[in-house]
Amino acid sequence: MIETIGLLTWLVAAASGSIDGGDDPLTKPFVSSHSAEWLSPAPSEKIFGDSYLVGFGGLSVALIDTGDGLILVDGALPQAAPAILANVRKLGFKPEDIKYILSTEPHPDHAGGLAALARDTGATVVASVRGAEALRSGRRAADDPQFGYDMRFPPVARTRTIGDGETLRLGKTVVTAHATPGHTMGSMSWSWRACEASACRTIVFASSLNPVSADGYRYTAPSSAAIVAGFQQSYRTMDALACDILITGHPDNASADGARYSDKPGACRALADRSRRALAARLAEEKAP
Ligand SMILES: [Zn+2]
Repeated sequence: MIETIGLLTWLVAAASGSIDGGDDPLTKPFVSSHSAEWLSPAPSEKIFGDSYLVGFGGLSVALIDTGDGLILVDGALPQAAPAILANVRKLGFKPEDIKYILSTEPHPDHAGGLAALARDTGATVVASVRGAEALRSGRRAADDPQFGYDMRFPPVARTRTIGDGETLRLGKTVVTAHATPGHTMGSMSWSWRACEASACRTIVFASSLNPVSADGYRYTAPSSAAIVAGFQQSYRTMDALACDILITGHPDNASADGARYSDKPGACRALADRSRRALAARLAEEKAP
């Protein structure tokens, strides 16, 4: 999700190279009015079983130890990649053991770091067909409600695609892909079982579900029908998912109390409900005289 971007700040920073990130084009900072808050440092922590958080105060990145390699979910901003890999090391893992990086949506705040992370680890980035298209282009798709922002991010050279309901297996872990279109048509949520001894919980890493658009976009326009239908599909999916623990790309979408994930019963349904209400309000606003 990006609401307000400091475009001028980003252009000036990119042109002058004045923000650290060295000369590496894949970690060149993407600066917005939110980026400092998004990348506020947070300790790496275990969620449950062999699943961890290795991201930031305002952007989630998850790590799964499958016993036969690691899986990362999301890549935050381009400049975040070195800190993510440092967080992986702090937990005692080797970045080169990351085999897959799952992508929730092709927006700079969740996918900006994917190109650098894939290059530095050798991992394969996995996304929906529509998500992978946007990741390879390094920009939003033409039907993205935020297309008007036209913020570029480092393109991901190599992707693997996965369909709704399909699974990805590595070691003892089976991750299921759940298409959750709307915020972008390529948005994908991911779920897997994490176990401690005989206790297992289903963890869901949900894509952003909020109806956020660039100025001038109208969800009531006939050309937006697929986006609105996508949201409805996503609400049904989230309502039906087994969901003991919810992680969202931006932690405050999962939990209002400052926690980095939610283990409250019904967390996925509550997320869908908040989006449903936000979309209904947005549609009503557009229809108002
Ligand atoms: Zn987004």
